[in-house]
Amino acid sequence: MLGVYVHLPFCPYLCPYCDFAKWPRRAAAAQRYLSALYAELDRQARVGAATLYLGGGTPNAYDAATIEDLLARLRGHFGGGRNACEIAEASIEVNPELVGTGDFARYRDAGITRLSIGVQSFEPSEIRTLGRKHAPEQIVQVVAQARAAGLRSVSLDLIFAVPGQTPASWRRSLEQAIALDVDHVSVYGLTVEEGTPYARWRARQPDAFFDDTREAELYAIAIEMLQASGYAQYEISNFARGAHQCAHNLNYWANGEYVGLGVGAASYRDGLRSVHTRSLEAYVEAALAGRPIPSEAERLEGRRRAGEALMLALRTTQGVRLGDFKERYGIDVIQDYATVVQRFAQTGLLERVADTVRLTQRGRFVANDVCGAFITFD
Ligand code: SF4
Repeated sequence: MLGVYVHLPFCPYLCPYCDFAKWPRRAAAAQRYLSALYAELDRQARVGAATLYLGGGTPNAYDAATIEDLLARLRGHFGGGRNACEIAEASIEVNPELVGTGDFARYRDAGITRLSIGVQSFEPSEIRTLGRKHAPEQIVQVVAQARAAGLRSVSLDLIFAVPGQTPASWRRSLEQAIALDVDHVSVYGLTVEEGTPYARWRARQPDAFFDDTREAELYAIAIEMLQASGYAQYEISNFARGAHQCAHNLNYWANGEYVGLGVGAASYRDGLRSVHTRSLEAYVEAALAGRPIPSEAERLEGRRRAGEALMLALRTTQGVRLGDFKERYGIDVIQDYATVVQRFAQTGLLERVADTVRLTQRGRFVANDVCGAFITFD
């Protein structure tokens, strides 16, 4: 299965914790970027993809007509090809403040099946702390609009461990997400990235930020409340009802192949992982001139490729299917990673159930440490 990711990097304003490749929206730059993106697309091989994902940045900083045009081009390019593959899922991330009347019906008609709404919090003070500007009522309206348009899956993103957040306020945000009866919820612990305004804030006032123990308390609340409301956890940060898991992301965690278009976008094909430059100007100039996009590339082979695949699969609640893994990578996880598997099994962070190895409930709280150990293990 092949996934296609398209990065749309413009935002109405920049959030102080954000480390993504993003720029404040300017009409001329956004238009020039689109031309560069189309030039890059035209140079891509016409292969069949199963999923499309428009991420950002803020994809709906572009108007609905532009999104329609982009989707038509992407579907024309990846909606058939050698594999004659159907695009089964097309997702778009949206900022609730920028949703216009009728946008979702247009997205639906253009092939969008899945909406990921950047809510982050329903608490006005936390929304402000995160540098966002929407009102909680806007979320309610946007979800209603998505339902009225008949989009197949609606997902909300929430952030925990926001300075000033409390267990009670986090519960309130989760309650409101659940009350909206959405199909999918993603919960992310706030990470403070170097070079962001948040990193400078933390340097001045470290006590404003959560330590691991307090952050774990909030994560536990999310797991408990979402599961009790019928959202099955299928990955460290992701919960879905029924069959509303994000197929595009499941492909990443299955170490599947993907093509990334746009500034800073990553691709993984034929064992080669590459990441485009995060310089907007360098990206646009190269794409418009028809030159290869400046990128960093790394070939993942043998043990390194298997380690990456293990790290990704362990993020999912399903874990690693040992038989499948051996067939695909020629690696016997239990034997070849004996020390690391035993270490985490003995400390109750990993478990073996039938033909799988997976994180325990406790292991999910320190997932980065456990999963990362499979990369560094030799
Ligand atoms: S809207 Fe998203 S991509 Fe844009 S600055 Fe905020 S967090 Fe970053």
